[in-house]
Amino acid sequence: MREDVRRGALTAAAIALSLCAGCAPESVAPTPPQSVDSATPQSAPGAPALPVAAPPVETADLEFPAKPKVFPPKERPVPLTEEPMMAVRIGSVKAGEPIPIDCVGGLLISPRDAGSDSPAWATGAPVEIRASKRGWSVKGKPAGTASSQREFPPCELVVVAREGAPRTLEWNHVKWPGELRLVEVSSDGGLDGAGTSPRRIDLVMDIAMESYLPGVIAKELYGGWDKETYRAQAIAARSFAFVERDRWAGRRHYDLVAGQQSQAWEGETKNQRAIDAVAATRGQMLVVDGRVVPAYYSSACGGHPASALGTLTDNPFHSIAAVSAGDAGKRVGACCQGASVASWKVTIPRSAVRSRLQAWGKVNGRPDLAAIEMPSAIEINERNAAGRAISFTLTAGKHSYEIGAEDLRWAMNAPRDRKTTLKSGDLAAKFVRVDGAASVEFSGRGFGHGVGLCQHGAQEMAKSGATAQEILARYYLGATIERAWK
Ligand SMILES: [Zn+2]
Repeated sequence: MREDVRRGALTAAAIALSLCAGCAPESVAPTPPQSVDSATPQSAPGAPALPVAAPPVETADLEFPAKPKVFPPKERPVPLTEEPMMAVRIGSVKAGEPIPIDCVGGLLISPRDAGSDSPAWATGAPVEIRASKRGWSVKGKPAGTASSQREFPPCELVVVAREGAPRTLEWNHVKWPGELRLVEVSSDGGLDGAGTSPRRIDLVMDIAMESYLPGVIAKELYGGWDKETYRAQAIAARSFAFVERDRWAGRRHYDLVAGQQSQAWEGETKNQRAIDAVAATRGQMLVVDGRVVPAYYSSACGGHPASALGTLTDNPFHSIAAVSAGDAGKRVGACCQGASVASWKVTIPRSAVRSRLQAWGKVNGRPDLAAIEMPSAIEINERNAAGRAISFTLTAGKHSYEIGAEDLRWAMNAPRDRKTTLKSGDLAAKFVRVDGAASVEFSGRGFGHGVGLCQHGAQEMAKSGATAQEILARYYLGATIERAWK
């Protein structure tokens, strides 16, 4: 899910969609915030609880996503009968940096819409592509000849495997299925626009939905998890991706990011369980009132589910039971309590809490927080119907400030320091002293934003014999599973 935001009351922080478990808010900035929403295999299940971190030294620059453009709310899409193509941004590099692409069997490189003056070039691999002042410069090795160089005009550059070659391209040590499109994003932020980032080149893979999904499921779930969990995740990920595709249509040059701003994607996967789960659920999506559900999901809800509206999106069309906190009574106490991330504790020096709030306030339209004094209390201001903390009151000096739970989480997570990562916004804060230093101890539950399917909870259900349909019925209340394309 992921790329994040501030729209109205929501901010970028909220965005990390599901994870990865990807889910995303109404708009997203170009540079993904680091987030940890989705469940995934980065920390093995069953791993010991995270130790209380020693007070970190706050030296690195704090990074927050820039404000994204805000778009008007959009109705949920109706299912298509044809399998759609997806555009997935797999990375972004500074303009001028070399982009090495490899492919067994060679490549075909062509400028899009450049006319007959600039024909496609069939070449050996690897090649090194660079954005130049006049367009693109590609160094390659045409089959059977010495290395050479080719120039292309400024436009989108399409790179595909040559006929007969394996259909995956290698970039950044990962094999990516699909067709690669290189898009230069101008200094004003280009199509998706944040406005402050320098010129960059986005690497976008164009790939059919069913070919894209196996690498998502493989990355989102642990290898040993049940096939029913995989199938439930496949249907949720397909629904999520479909809604994202519709949401971004005409607004930017890709639908999803391979990462937590949207959902994880490892490219080509050999995970047979993931491949089988996607095949067994081909075309199936979650639907309410004839329209597809934005099926957000996250790693572990901690027993306290969240609602999409107010957590990940401001879009009123997403106010449906399927992505609301739902029937809290049924889920509390019987979801993901066995997960290693069911509860956690993190300690951050009080001075760092203040500096992170200030930095976050500066880029998220909160001048009051940008000038906050040393905080003396952080208390839960509001809980949702399921008991999850959704906003906090901060006290500093003579002033008090309100901040959303996900915003607080993202503010604290600005330094990319896993030891002090707040895994969810469902937390309580206590002011303590650690080695004589004033600190804040955050105690929380779960991992991720808590909206929709809880991956650890789904696996618990599957272990007890539940089917994918039963898992989805529990986490997306009122939604039915419909097969859109064959
Ligand atoms: Zn849960």
